Amino acid sequence: MTIAETDVFEFDNSFARDLEGFYVEWQAAAAPEPAMVAFNKELAAELGLDASYLSSAEGVGILAGNAVPDGAEPIAMVYAGHQFGGYSPRLGDGRALLVGELLGADGKRFDLHLKGSGRTPFARGGDGKAALGSMLREYLVAEAMHALGVPTTRALSVVTTGESIFREGMVPGAILARIAGSHLRVGTFEFAARLEDKTALTRLADYSIKRHHPAAASSERPYLSLLEAVIDAQAALVARWMLLGFIHGVLNTDNVTISGEGIDYGPCAFMDGYDPKTVFSSIDHAGRYAFGNQPSISIWNLARLAETLLPLIDSDNDAAIESATELLQSFPDRYQGYWLEGMRAKLGLADQATGDDELAAGFTDLLEAHRADYTGSFRALADSLRGHDETLQQLLPDDKARGAWLDLWHARLDGEGRERSVVADEMDQVNPIYIPRNHLLEAALTAATDGDLEPFNELYEAVTHPFEKRDGLDRYTEAAPDSFGGNYQTFCGT
Ligand code: AMP
Ligand code: MG
Repeated sequence: MTIAETDVFEFDNSFARDLEGFYVEWQAAAAPEPAMVAFNKELAAELGLDASYLSSAEGVGILAGNAVPDGAEPIAMVYAGHQFGGYSPRLGDGRALLVGELLGADGKRFDLHLKGSGRTPFARGGDGKAALGSMLREYLVAEAMHALGVPTTRALSVVTTGESIFREGMVPGAILARIAGSHLRVGTFEFAARLEDKTALTRLADYSIKRHHPAAASSERPYLSLLEAVIDAQAALVARWMLLGFIHGVLNTDNVTISGEGIDYGPCAFMDGYDPKTVFSSIDHAGRYAFGNQPSISIWNLARLAETLLPLIDSDNDAAIESATELLQSFPDRYQGYWLEGMRAKLGLADQATGDDELAAGFTDLLEAHRADYTGSFRALADSLRGHDETLQQLLPDDKARGAWLDLWHARLDGEGRERSVVADEMDQVNPIYIPRNHLLEAALTAATDGDLEPFNELYEAVTHPFEKRDGLDRYTEAAPDSFGGNYQTFCGT
């Protein structure tokens, strides 16, 4: 381990300073031969980091965990969590490190975090490593999410370590450098609650308020306001996922952030044919985290957060439960509000009208009945307004059902009186054409694992400019071939 004397980073490590007891100081394992595979220059610039330094041998050494930059205090965070409904009192960063915190060009604080950097005291049975394919998956999905306007952790780089690790066979080991508003999770609060140390819990809550939901500090009941802010942020996040046809795959409480950013893109996927029961993760046997379950599972996860906060909400436990329950019960309306707002935009509606929820539900019912490609259908809808309805007819071949819904939609649009071509163009601003389709991503990751990064780089380029139709990219708009469809699964923990 070396110290890199660099002024590229000006660390200010508030977590290490304020939250003793929630981490252990730790060092990354040595990466024998680090090599940069993906580097996000745009993000580096956005964060005010020196991209050319980070691409140099010394910079790559830092991103591989081989060198600790001046001012960094690498730590492994501890947290608990409910995984598939079962409680684990001690999870924590088993293979990850918070290198340190930085202030971005916009003054916002962010975590620089390495994933795949070796075993920590929280590794349990794991090897502490990460496979190149999974780290590239997270890199691409995080950046696609960002381009789609969804709150998310970001990806700065992926470096291979020069080591092979055992997964389904031997694969290249890699480290992702992740950027996040923070790594505070519901699971962090669950860990604090089990300490039965009100001071520690209060420190964590105060820290979270200050870092993410500062308005709560000046509220009459700050900890109740913190809960409300997290509930609202998660309702907004899950609504965005649902509007995009995105399935996180592992919505355990340790993967639910206090900031409201999406995190940990493991066995996640964008749905092709619309079906709320869609599950992708090979470990989700019961379909707990199926597409259509995500809003209700979020309430469940937020209830776990609420439980931890009860002692801070009110000294009278019954009164605390009552206040927290009332807030949790506000989730469905908040979620529905965000979803409908997004759905109006997807359907080209500028104003709000009663019956919009039924109009939107009518469309998703149509999609479900036809198992129509979710992403493609909204672009086809816009094209139909331009007088090209062939694709829509192919996707929704039931003329009667399609015609009936289109009549309602056209009447609603006519009520707004905007020109149809203008509406169609606006729809294309919010309905992506390029998403990380599973079969393409899988093929790109397989090629990358075999040393060919071209398919990955091409897909990355497409999905990080998701709204803008370009020539030569038609294959990125097509649903998976049948041979791929039915039994597609993503694997996690790799
Ligand atoms: P995840 O499913 O990636 O959110 O991880 C769940 C928990 O398992 C976290 O505590 C991770 O740090 C830990 N974990 C996952 N993979 C490994 C690994 N290969 N080695 C050590 N810990 C791991
Ligand atoms: Mg996780």
